[in-house]
Amino acid sequence: MLKVHSRCDLSCDHCYIYQHADQTWRGRPVRMPPATVRAAARRIAEHAREHELSVVHVVLHGGEPLLLGAAGLREVLAELRAAITPWTLLDLRMQTNGVLLDEELCRLLVDYAVQVGVSFDGDRAANDRHRVFAHGGSSHDQVRRALSLLRQPDHRVSYAGILCTVDVRNDPDRVYEALLAESPPRVDLLLPHATWDNPPERPGPGSTPYADWLGRLHRRWVDDGRPVSIRLFEALRPGGGGTEAFGLAPADVLVIEADGSWEQVDSLKTAYHGAAGTGFDVFGHSVDEVARHPGVAVRQDGVDGLCATCRACPVVDRCGGGLYAHRWRTGSGFDNPSVYCADLLHLINRVDAYPEPAPAAPSEWSAASPVDELLDDLATGHGSAATLALLTATQLSITRALLVACRDLAGPTAAWELLVHLDQVAPEAVRAVLEHPFVRPWLVHRLDSSARSGVSAALDPLPALAVAAALRAGVPAAVHVPVRADAITLPTLGGLLLPGVGESAEVTVRPGELRVRGGTAERTVLLDPVELSAGWRPTRDVPVPAGRLLLEDGDPYRDCYGQPVAPRLEAPAAWALGRTLTEAWQVVHRDVPAHAAALDGGLRAVVPLAPDPARPLRSATARHAFGAVAVTTDPDPETMAVLLVHEWQHAKLGAVLDLFDLVKPGQGTRIRVPWRPDPRPPEGVLQGVYAHLAVTQVWRSRAAADGPDASAHAARFLAWTRDGVDALLASRSLTAAGERFVGQLRHAIEETCVGSR
Ligand code: SF4
Ligand code: SF4
Repeated sequence: MLKVHSRCDLSCDHCYIYQHADQTWRGRPVRMPPATVRAAARRIAEHAREHELSVVHVVLHGGEPLLLGAAGLREVLAELRAAITPWTLLDLRMQTNGVLLDEELCRLLVDYAVQVGVSFDGDRAANDRHRVFAHGGSSHDQVRRALSLLRQPDHRVSYAGILCTVDVRNDPDRVYEALLAESPPRVDLLLPHATWDNPPERPGPGSTPYADWLGRLHRRWVDDGRPVSIRLFEALRPGGGGTEAFGLAPADVLVIEADGSWEQVDSLKTAYHGAAGTGFDVFGHSVDEVARHPGVAVRQDGVDGLCATCRACPVVDRCGGGLYAHRWRTGSGFDNPSVYCADLLHLINRVDAYPEPAPAAPSEWSAASPVDELLDDLATGHGSAATLALLTATQLSITRALLVACRDLAGPTAAWELLVHLDQVAPEAVRAVLEHPFVRPWLVHRLDSSARSGVSAALDPLPALAVAAALRAGVPAAVHVPVRADAITLPTLGGLLLPGVGESAEVTVRPGELRVRGGTAERTVLLDPVELSAGWRPTRDVPVPAGRLLLEDGDPYRDCYGQPVAPRLEAPAAWALGRTLTEAWQVVHRDVPAHAAALDGGLRAVVPLAPDPARPLRSATARHAFGAVAVTTDPDPETMAVLLVHEWQHAKLGAVLDLFDLVKPGQGTRIRVPWRPDPRPPEGVLQGVYAHLAVTQVWRSRAAADGPDASAHAARFLAWTRDGVDALLASRSLTAAGERFVGQLRHAIEETCVGSR
């Protein structure tokens, strides 16, 4: 935590920095001098380098950090990124009262990938009970304006959430509604800082007003389907992971004051004057030296660092003795339970007692079943070659089942008999055709159309599939093939234009050629890739490390991406796209070999999307078209590599969702996420975090060579992934398998960052 500005433009009467026991701020420089910023950044970088940290979180704090102004803030951010990003992923955050936030500052925060938390206590009455200017005026309108700025689509990526300090005199429902109205990605609820020497206010008759207030809010939150991540409630759940204020995890926060002093967590300022001091500073002392300070070291000891009462407490694993500062009592120091002890115990019991949807049944998922292994492998972020082979095989099974369903529409035909025969004598040829990404969309279209309008409503795919397989196998055959829009499509091979032949053609397959008779005309088509027969449009492909990648711009069933696809490309454009794809694939191998292996294992075709000058950079995946992704043709190879990795994540997860329900069906839950303005269904969030995890890994890998920009991208996608995973877990919208998968993803976020270095 970097105290970049030690004064504030608000004068909140609950502020622990100015209004509580510690008054060291009075002797500190108003703003952190550039030399101190530089020294601080170097200390952080030094620590990250020596310990090979995968990520460092730096929170710009104050006072009020926005008092630096845009120019001052830019200097600090640039210094931090330049010094730290060569060594680790820098997750930049800021805690602000928001009063000074404007468009220019928002753009700066977005540019530097800073995640911004805003202090806001709820509705006007609640917020203005404490959060006022020195003249006593309200800050409510200014803070709400800041929140609306962060909600704007261009800025939302930097909106981390709201920090709300609890006052039990406020109406919890009104506070809850006011917080939700600001659409925060996350809410932190903070108990007002207090000690045994200065206990919290306890208005009213009850002995546990904070537990009662928070319990009521928790109940509302659960009843509403957990519409936002509330960290306090998530941390208090069994296995919730804890926070600085709860649980037994080692403390991992150090503060650098505006004068360069190393300090312990700043909440200690509530205990006594100088309580957070260490006697060290960034000019002369490393992080390791500060970490050995007794006040820091004792907070690495888990339950052994707690008082006897807490050690014997039944909920110590979740409460952890509460916030360290809240244990202070003159005489016994910090060797006490929290001054909120009774409230914490009661709150945990209330949270436990309130009925929630049953969590994952551990027994169902505790054994390492093949399903576990598949999900765990994919939850690494990429998935092994064996997992990709399994997903490809299951997709083929689905296509085969659809094929049989299509056969059942009209009963066995000559085309069906031919397919069955080929499956016996040339199974690889049938397999290659059925694995073409747009066979399944074709079969689904046939089934859907028939269900709506009768059996003959859509083109029967079986004859064309049989012809394609016979051609690939070199097996002579003859079938009648339906003609759509004056053409026959032969998946994996190409399309044959047959103007004027009517609705059907008799096709005879000979090795290397087709003889086609329709109406009164008869013609022979040589399937020579160089000397093209009239009307023959072969599917083009390009070399990639896994073999050949189809450039699929002819199959009519590629039109399944919810956005226009490009018509067949002219030869120069096809050549240029092919070259970009080849190079992009090599970039993926360079940056993220594990993802490259996953691409090698299943991506077979790329579909060019129609150009749109307003949105030149687009990509898409279709649930029924496993093995293909769609992209715009403009990106350079480096950008194309990111698109391929991103979309392939969606394809893999789609294949998993064909097998398992990871999201409980039919709940109607919507979850707020930082990367979209609109609340998303859980499956959309799941897709988002899985794709963002991979993109994080790409940018993380590039950060060492490409510097601050790549590091900023990595930090942003990492934050999105984390926030999305937390929101999903909090939503209780996942099945047992989904909880396991997302839980593993959470674990993998840090691990995969290390692995990609
Ligand atoms: S905005 Fe924050 S730092 Fe400023 S007075 Fe209020 S609580 Fe203190
Ligand atoms: S509930 Fe009280 S006794 Fe139990 S761990 Fe928390 S502070 Fe300690």
